[in-house]
Amino acid sequence: MDSYREDEALFKEKFERFKEIYPKDGRVAVFTGAGVSTLSGIPDFRGSHGVYNSPWHGLSVEEVLSLDFFYEHPEVFYAWAEEVWYHLEDYEPNIVHKALAKLEAEGMMGFGLFTQNIDFMHQRAGSKRVYELHGSAATAYCTNCHSFHKYEEIAPIVREGKVPRCSQCGGLIKPDIVFYGEALSSSVIRQAEISFSQASLALVMGSSLTVYPAAAFPRLTKMSGGKTVIINAQHTDQDADATLCFKDLGQFSQALLDWLT
Ligand code: NAD
Repeated sequence: MDSYREDEALFKEKFERFKEIYPKDGRVAVFTGAGVSTLSGIPDFRGSHGVYNSPWHGLSVEEVLSLDFFYEHPEVFYAWAEEVWYHLEDYEPNIVHKALAKLEAEGMMGFGLFTQNIDFMHQRAGSKRVYELHGSAATAYCTNCHSFHKYEEIAPIVREGKVPRCSQCGGLIKPDIVFYGEALSSSVIRQAEISFSQASLALVMGSSLTVYPAAAFPRLTKMSGGKTVIINAQHTDQDADATLCFKDLGQFSQALLDWLT
């Protein structure tokens, strides 16, 4: 696991400032990306070990995860997804997921947690108000008869190297993940727009902020007069808007937990 830890003295000074600007009324919305799950061992897309860095059997991940490609070659998507996304029970929530669950439990995250992750780690760590911007691998549906299927039913089939098919009609089963070329849920978009516009602080953790429209939501807080704090190893296009930027998710989450206990 890579460490992006900052010098302790500098970090402490910045974290004190973070505590000062943290809204006492809890008007905070959180935005997370794949970086928060790297501490569990789940690879991100664009980090130093991200799966975008090397093609998969000559294909870009963007291609494998596009909607048209899924319908044409579901066996390729499931073979790719099998490697990590259908072994999620092998991974455990980490300190970032736990710190965010605690933040909510303490009443300090009034507008909930918006995640781009499909791995349901936030829920496993105890977060209650989670909005999944890009859907979830927890559920799936038949693209023919629209019957509902759960991860527990699909994962063993995918792990056997097969494409999951509906037990009732034989139709192709698609996970409730938002593929490239697919629209986000309109109700989740609405909720994100309301929450980030009304929040006094947007806390952005572990996202390269490059996947739109999701990456546009945290900007709404700043545009509405609030503040942004970003925790990410790599520079993002929104760093210039942020009141504070931290580098290491583990270092930040430990300090957050220490503050909350
Ligand atoms: P991304 O891969 O583009 O960016 C992740 C960022 O996290 C990187 O900039 C990286 O530098 C940073 N990071 C990684 N480890 C870190 C650490 N320990 N400390 C600080 N920063 C760290 O991810 P994204 O912005 O979420 O966009 C990727 C898209 O792919 C999302 O839409 C998401 O749906 C999907 N995805 C989901 C998962 C998952 O569910 N866990 C995994 C991969 C991709």
